[in-house]
Amino acid sequence: MAKETGRGGRCSFCNRTEQETGYPLLAGYSGLICVDCAERAAEAVREIKHRQPDNRFVLDVLPKPKEIKEFLDLYVIGQDDAKRYLSVAVYNHYKRLMQKDKSDNEVEIEKSNIIMVGSTGTGKTLLAKTIARLLKVPFTIVDATVLTEAGYVGEDIESILTRLLQVSDYNVEAAERGIVFIDEIDKIARKGDNPSITRDVSGEGVQQGLLKLLEGSVVNVPPQGGRKHPEQKMIPVNTKDILFICGGAFDGIEKKIAMRLNTQVVGYGTDKKREIIDRNNLLQYIAPQDLKAFGLIPEIIGRLPILTYLDPLDRKALRQILTEPKNSIIKQYIKMFEIDGIKLTFSEESLEYMVDTAIEFKLGARGLRSIVESVMIDAMFEMPSTDCKELHITKQYAEEKMKKANMHALH
Ligand code: ADP
Repeated sequence: MAKETGRGGRCSFCNRTEQETGYPLLAGYSGLICVDCAERAAEAVREIKHRQPDNRFVLDVLPKPKEIKEFLDLYVIGQDDAKRYLSVAVYNHYKRLMQKDKSDNEVEIEKSNIIMVGSTGTGKTLLAKTIARLLKVPFTIVDATVLTEAGYVGEDIESILTRLLQVSDYNVEAAERGIVFIDEIDKIARKGDNPSITRDVSGEGVQQGLLKLLEGSVVNVPPQGGRKHPEQKMIPVNTKDILFICGGAFDGIEKKIAMRLNTQVVGYGTDKKREIIDRNNLLQYIAPQDLKAFGLIPEIIGRLPILTYLDPLDRKALRQILTEPKNSIIKQYIKMFEIDGIKLTFSEESLEYMVDTAIEFKLGARGLRSIVESVMIDAMFEMPSTDCKELHITKQYAEEKMKKANMHALH
């Protein structure tokens, strides 16, 4: 470590004296350095370190399916089936990649993309995000509704990968091992079960385009997204090792499931089977043929071999979501107040009341945040300017604030 000298001499780098620099020189083992040169050196070091190859996306340890699920449990309430399916699928996906690196490829394990079916706001995106957080691989969410067939209004299919490239800082190699979550996949379903005679811009054409990505091929990605311009330089990206997780609400698919189950269970010796069907949660029986009946083309279904579902969130789940996940809404507010030195607490009744409001207004988990926000807004505005160091939220307080907030605004 350099020491102050105050003994005179000259900086070994710029040759100036202490008088000239206005500060004592720092002495090392065999030379002196002035503060200006030291500062410049520190800056250069920072820059060099910054240029070091970025290992943000290096996957060196692969967690086992059980560990993946345990991690998901920290952030996502319930949804056990989906968690198990996802954990295994993701584990197999990256195991396959790591195996390939060791290059004994007698048996090539095929990629298994995933499709999750469940009402909006039940945790599909959250699951995908949490997996990506665990694995430290590039991850992006795209909305299938903006996609249209090449040449039509809307975004080209390839733009799905633009975001992935962006989050990978255009590191193509990292992007090629990333995860893409395609939301609202049901919106590109063909309307009706019959292939249409007329051209279906938002339906089958897009599915055909998407197929190319899911299957694994080299596609030219516009680095800035949007539509392809002839003058834009494309970046080739191989999608072979990109894991696609699709999610959709598939509103009304329960009817297709019920129909299939009914036709299946009609007949000799099937009464028992009929009994055990839980009519309140038909999604749990989802099968690939239901997706076909909904309007996904068989080729797409074939490329999404892992099919799983999410449960609707009941009262108990909503209550848990408020406080239990590692970064639950309530924990976030407590933290926010803590930064101002304020101890924030909630009575159990106030929490129950917020859950009831979410149920009453059919807001689901997504609405919980806006409800808590409405309850807390006044306190967040006023408390930092007071000396008050404690705030306890009672049911009565929550009720008052909710009345004050325009409930319709929450819809
Ligand atoms: P989806 O993708 O199914 O429409 P999201 O995953 O975006 O729903 O969920 C919306 C929000 O609701 C999440 O950010 C999270 O705060 C909350 N949420 C939904 N489901 C759960 C769950 N099972 N566990 C914890 N939080 C959840």
